Amino acid sequence: MEVPYNYLPYEFADTDNIFVDWKELINSTDFTLGKYVKNFENKFAKFLGVKHCISTNNGTDAIILALKALGIKKGDEVITVANTFYATVGAIVAVGATPVLVDCDSQFQICVDKIQKAIGPKTKAILPVHWAGSSPNMNLILDICKKNKLFLVEDACMGIGASINKKNAGTFGNVNAFSMHPLKSLNVMGDGGMVVTNNSSLASWMEKYRNHGMIDRDHIEFWGVNMRLQPLQAIVASHRLDALTNTLSRRRHNAKILDEGLKPLVDKGIVALPKRLDGYLETFALYMGLFRKRDKLVQYLENNKIEVKIHYPVPLHLQKAAEKNCVFDKTDLKNVEYQSKHLITIPVHQYLTETQLSYTIDCIIKFYSDD
Ligand SMILES: *Cc1c(COP(=O)(O)O)cnc(C)c1O
Repeated sequence: MEVPYNYLPYEFADTDNIFVDWKELINSTDFTLGKYVKNFENKFAKFLGVKHCISTNNGTDAIILALKALGIKKGDEVITVANTFYATVGAIVAVGATPVLVDCDSQFQICVDKIQKAIGPKTKAILPVHWAGSSPNMNLILDICKKNKLFLVEDACMGIGASINKKNAGTFGNVNAFSMHPLKSLNVMGDGGMVVTNNSSLASWMEKYRNHGMIDRDHIEFWGVNMRLQPLQAIVASHRLDALTNTLSRRRHNAKILDEGLKPLVDKGIVALPKRLDGYLETFALYMGLFRKRDKLVQYLENNKIEVKIHYPVPLHLQKAAEKNCVFDKTDLKNVEYQSKHLITIPVHQYLTETQLSYTIDCIIKFYSDD
């Protein structure tokens, strides 16, 4: 049996309805912004329960746009977590600011207790990540932001459809960013992203900045850039948004099967999974756990045709890039370092069968059977 990590061949096996809309778009030749982009933005804003949604090229640009809209610039510090994708930190550096990396907790999310210690006179914003499609305690982070007069920008790139007590990921902060990269919960056939906010003046600035600062064809208000979402992708995004509830409920179902199957190993202390907290809905963009003898298990699973990943083997603060323009406390990133040595991401996608899931569980249990 094979358990593939990549679900895209299944997801896009039937694209007939997408082609119907693409055909209409192609006939209209409305290839920059236009009706399809606007319709998708409105639909996404409604889905999320926010006033303004501005689509972008990709999630990285969405974070950059959010930080720029809040005026974050050279000399400012932005606090984020050390176990995230490169783009979170890259975006902070791209606006000229300095990333301050803090440790994660046993939930694999930014450690809220350690945020306070990282706040200094130059701190302007906290940029928590909905890592793996789970969420840190956003209400506590929001309190810290309010108390210290800091902006809150959520990196909800993996969190489309996640929520805490029915409040959606990406609706807690001042301006929040999402990605529609092929491996996210709402994905397109290439790149796409979004920023959302309830603040009308920030929204209006971002809408213009994304499109050269233009007011109309012949006038610009300020110098901007081109961060536009392609209409072809807006069409894909709209169809994927229709399917999102179903996609996520299948991923959650699969995650539950894995949780139950791995429980004996969790009870023995061989495997550690994050707690599934009451009121937290996750997207399971990644199903991650910490595993004893990680590297041997990875090899064993690969030999048994179960495709797994590691997110990521080299923590950000140990990357060469972090030697410059990055602040962190070397002694206090122990959880992130431990995770980089023990973490495995297991296939959980919506096209897996229960047989594939049981096979995965059985292989892992067999691997530890001599322990
Ligand atoms: C995917 C991702 C990004 C970047 O999104 P792109 O659309 O690939 O640019 C940023 N942050 C996190 C946490 C992500 O998972």
